Amino acid sequence: MPKVAIVTGASRGIGREIAKNLAVKGIKVIANYNKSEENAKKLKETLKNEGIEIDIFKADVSRREECKELVKYTLKKYNNIDILINNAGISEYKLFTEESDEDWNRVINTNLYSAFVMSQEVIPNMIHNKSGCIINISSIWGQVGASLEVIYSVSKAGMNGLTKALAKELGPSNIRVNSIAPGIIDTDMNKHISEIELKELEKDIPLEKIGLPEDISRCVNWLVDDMYTTGQIIGINGGWE
Ligand code: NAD
Repeated sequence: MPKVAIVTGASRGIGREIAKNLAVKGIKVIANYNKSEENAKKLKETLKNEGIEIDIFKADVSRREECKELVKYTLKKYNNIDILINNAGISEYKLFTEESDEDWNRVINTNLYSAFVMSQEVIPNMIHNKSGCIINISSIWGQVGASLEVIYSVSKAGMNGLTKALAKELGPSNIRVNSIAPGIIDTDMNKHISEIELKELEKDIPLEKIGLPEDISRCVNWLVDDMYTTGQIIGINGGWE
């Protein structure tokens, strides 16, 4: 039986690459999107041309009811969830003193609450199967903090805490929970950074280059196959710390 994976925020960037490479690996993928139906359909179409079928499902993962629908759809269709990739996320650049309650709620709900809810919704099935793999896409900023991205850093640090604690709680059920903490990856999330700034940043990165979405998806594919790694925060950052 092929494994089944839900990837949140899969219409573009890192999530898209993760969804694509899990599907290429033979895993049944449910690629979640929120607003960009066109991108999600494009991903489905591209893979179809290569003979690979994936499902796409619209849900705002910052809302529990929509997470429930996503999980319900997956269980109805495949009767099983083996892998959850909590990838959906947004960033926010502001002086801390200018952040509002709305900013806090939007970033925390999208980046952290979504991982809490999605995990809660899939775990009963994983416990029943005595097998599961949850991967949270956090960030280097959750480890070292970023100026002008305090709420974002808090959300990703929270994700790392969720990973470590949940890995302990779920270990006896053979469910592995890990975080991948990317450094700077070339996606739309960083399109506000100018070419000149990127070149400057590259000088600080030991491997002297910005990462690519496939650098993250390669690690996801490895974690999916692995059987003895849990509670880890894996930095994929070119040595940048
Ligand atoms: P991106 O902006 O291209 O992708 C984010 C995806 O999340 C988009 O598809 C978006 O539609 C989706 N999304 C946002 N809110 C959602 C919601 N409420 N419900 C469902 N989907 C939602 O950025 P990316 O770089 O591909 O980011 C993917 C993940 O990687 C994020 O969690 C981000 O924080 C993390 N990350 C990125 C970098 C980087 O440098 N690009 C670095 C560290 C961590």
